Amino acid sequence: KLWKYCPKRWLVQTSTKKEDTATLPTVSNFVGGKFVTSHGPIIHTVTNPATGESLQNVPGTTQQEVDKAMEIAQEAFENWSNMPIGRRLNYIFQLREGIKKRSKEIAQVITRELGKTPADAQGDVARGLEIVEYSCGAAGKLEGMFQKNVATNVDMMQMREPLGVCLGVCPFNFPAMIPLWMLPMSTIVGNTIILKPSELVPGAVELIAQVVDEAQFPPGVFNVVQGGKETVDCLLEHPFLKAVSFVGSTPVGRHIYRKASERGIRAQCNMGAKNHAVIMPDAAKDTALNALIGAAFGASGQRCMAISVGVFVGEAGNWIPELVKRTQSLVLGTSEGCDLGPLVTEKAKQRVEKCIQSAESQGATIEYRASVPYSKGNWVGPTIISHVKPHMDVYQQEIFGPVLSCIHVETLDDAIQLINRNPYGNGTSIFTQSGVVARMFQSNIQVGQIGINLPIPVPAPPFGFTGSKDSMWGDLPFYGSTGFEFYTRPKTVITRWDEKVQSAIHTSMPLHR
Ligand code: NAD
Repeated sequence: KLWKYCPKRWLVQTSTKKEDTATLPTVSNFVGGKFVTSHGPIIHTVTNPATGESLQNVPGTTQQEVDKAMEIAQEAFENWSNMPIGRRLNYIFQLREGIKKRSKEIAQVITRELGKTPADAQGDVARGLEIVEYSCGAAGKLEGMFQKNVATNVDMMQMREPLGVCLGVCPFNFPAMIPLWMLPMSTIVGNTIILKPSELVPGAVELIAQVVDEAQFPPGVFNVVQGGKETVDCLLEHPFLKAVSFVGSTPVGRHIYRKASERGIRAQCNMGAKNHAVIMPDAAKDTALNALIGAAFGASGQRCMAISVGVFVGEAGNWIPELVKRTQSLVLGTSEGCDLGPLVTEKAKQRVEKCIQSAESQGATIEYRASVPYSKGNWVGPTIISHVKPHMDVYQQEIFGPVLSCIHVETLDDAIQLINRNPYGNGTSIFTQSGVVARMFQSNIQVGQIGINLPIPVPAPPFGFTGSKDSMWGDLPFYGSTGFEFYTRPKTVITRWDEKVQSAIHTSMPLHR
């Protein structure tokens, strides 16, 4: 039990529990196949962002509880990793069935805690389910290599083996999809995992844990611990930990990547973004403007692949009034048929409003700002800002709100240079009717995911999520075949079965002869 030899660090976490939230339920951990309540302090109260109603308290799981969860996950690894993949697959099939059956319920929780519209919340679950389904093809991806007679009577084989206990740290903006990038991909190949959901939206993962429980996964294979920064640090420092998958903001991702690499633990960190869409003057206008509006304001701009900058080339700059007119048709709300909901927290709302104000004071033009028909909740109306310049705060920051900045440039080259200078590399897109222009763009742009005449180029499961620059640290992208590589390690075995006795001592470098 290695952890006993490590310095014990007692958690200093400050409780944020207020009197009026003291009677709320506390969200559970799921450890060793049991739902248990952490004894840690309450670090956050989840509220419905559309109404401000308090929903449940989130505890900060303590060092001792983290140690316990790690021990349980480590113990479970032994049997789980040795189980034939066909048997592990049966659990994943059941996970898929369970999530499918409860997808509406999960989506409703997402709407309640995050404010996504019902259709968008269902999309969150559906995109996660795609990865569950993709993970079922793991057997074919784990093939090794074998070569006979690499030297005289020497054979060589290489196989992929699971790592051990993995950690998943999740952001708030996809409460189901991102946990479902991590859970099936890590466990199908034989790892066990501890998932740390965002403290802002723990409900979807709680339901996923119920599905895992109903599917009777062996205890300890999938675990959930609640908490924030302090709990993540305890998990990261634990000697049993072998890999960390992180999705969230760039400063936190860098911190996690550095901490993991210092200890030789592999990390994949998907981080923040600033995604540009280039609108060429020859673009199909209706398609381009509608796509831009959907990608800028869907989920209230709280997507890592949201388009937050429209780069209008030449005469396409004259389309801003039309863009505004179409944006005016968007409906704010969280019921069926609405287009966008509120922001996740009051703090997020204040940050986005401050950013909009800074744009105005720094010389940009607010072309449109929708009024909000609600008196409670964290609502910000869709906002279009033109004459934005790269030095302005509204361009420098990842706003993560329903704000579209518009920049005018003269040529495609100017657009490419602008995007390449940006530190992020998550996604970008171009709208044009010209194959030559599109090809020039895709060849010269330094961004990991490119859409041509579509705004949000999120790769399908077999391809992997290939953000770059400050949007992704780590060498092996989430899901796709690189996802399986991330969660396994190659091992090489070299054998000699020789009837002849080796009669002499050889001290020179052995050669493959
Ligand atoms: P966040 O970085 O604030 O939090 C992410 C997770 O890290 C949470 O679970 C949180 O509890 C934990 N955390 C926060 N501070 C920490 C610290 N100092 N040390 C250790 N752990 C810490 O991110 P968020 O606000 O929840 O999510 C929004 C961000 O995520 C945006 O920047 C968005 O672009 C990014 N994102 C990226 C992708 C992608 O695939 N590139 C996908 C979704 C979201």
